[in-house]
Amino acid sequence: MSSTVRKTTRRVCIGDVVIGGGAPIVVQSMTNTDTADASATVEQVCDLARAGSELVRITVNTAQAAAQVARIREELARRDCAVPLVGDFHFNGHRLLSQYPECAEALAKYRINPGNVGKGSKRDEQFATMIEMACKYGKPVRIGVNWGSLDQELLARLMDENGARAQPLAADAVMREALVVSALESAAQAEKWGLPADRIVLSCKVSGVQDLISVYRDLAARSDYPLHLGLTEAGMGSKGIVASTAALSVLLQEGIGDTIRISLTPEPGGDRTREVVVAQEILQTMGLRSFAPMVISCPGCGRTTSTYFQELAASIQAYLRSQMPLWREHYPGVEDMHVAVMGCVVNGPGESKQSNIGISLPGSGERPVAPVFVDGEKTVTLKGETIARDFQKIVDDYVRSHYGAGGVAGAAAATKEPKTSPTRAAV
Ligand code: SF4
Repeated sequence: MSSTVRKTTRRVCIGDVVIGGGAPIVVQSMTNTDTADASATVEQVCDLARAGSELVRITVNTAQAAAQVARIREELARRDCAVPLVGDFHFNGHRLLSQYPECAEALAKYRINPGNVGKGSKRDEQFATMIEMACKYGKPVRIGVNWGSLDQELLARLMDENGARAQPLAADAVMREALVVSALESAAQAEKWGLPADRIVLSCKVSGVQDLISVYRDLAARSDYPLHLGLTEAGMGSKGIVASTAALSVLLQEGIGDTIRISLTPEPGGDRTREVVVAQEILQTMGLRSFAPMVISCPGCGRTTSTYFQELAASIQAYLRSQMPLWREHYPGVEDMHVAVMGCVVNGPGESKQSNIGISLPGSGERPVAPVFVDGEKTVTLKGETIARDFQKIVDDYVRSHYGAGGVAGAAAATKEPKTSPTRAAV
């Protein structure tokens, strides 16, 4: 990373997870189960943690939900899942945190939306109660402002002030200013009520890419709290992924953002862990963190007349990710491995040589053989029906011999700098 402009010096500790202060950018996610359904919530928290979510947020919106939080924490402990739980509080958070002390204790962090803590004279009182609970239980807080629930009284005040200016700003600029001011004034209030600065994380989420970039640049310039980054309501599928990536990559490149979440709308029946994988892929493709081996594959073209090459790329990608829970433990460094799966001889051998392991499949008109390259050297030529199985075994053998306690060439292989490739997909 060369063009960073900001590094948060403050750090917030949430259990063993550190946000800010130069710590690696933390990946987080949120369940979409009813928290009152403890079993379903435990299942999904485990899935998200297994996928690599380092913090998991759960909504705490009702008395029934609050009553289950400690039980959820206990069941997670029984399953050896230590991922910290963040409670998401809105309108009634002051009551739930006060009336359910086991819930307040079991959570590792509270997310408070200053636009949804109460109106008029109740607002400060209810917000203060939540901060008091955070102080009492020694919990950090994310002051999470959201475009869709911006404090309307604050917005009206800023609009009035703007109207009195000789040269008023455009309404959208005032809206962005209101988001930042809401976060900063709420953080100042929280500190005044006794919450230490090193227990405060800020976020200001909006759904537009350019708005998000503008708001976070401003927020980063005006504060030193660690920042949680995410494009809210990013949308479904490729639109949500592209929009989140476009916004976050600009900010991350500038050193803005200490923890991220990708707010994808899942397809009906879709896998909630997708948002964790996308967050990891953004960080890994930017070279900020490594989570799992990367598969480098070309897009294919008229020289690949069969789907074999696509199937092999997909299967090896799925295989590598499926092995990570085990490999992470036994073969540290394997997450930096690059595996190339290429469609023909044009770029196949060249790209394969730049990866730790690569295979160049035969394009149309080529001899039906697939040379394999390991650490830049051609080692074997695969052919016949068992190419996929044989290649997977070569990958397995490489992992065992190069990473972890028994690895002899891991350091050299892991630091190998791959060159530009057609497509790099973190699996
Ligand atoms: S490597 Fe071969 S198959 Fe793949 S895109 Fe390039 S020319 Fe096409």
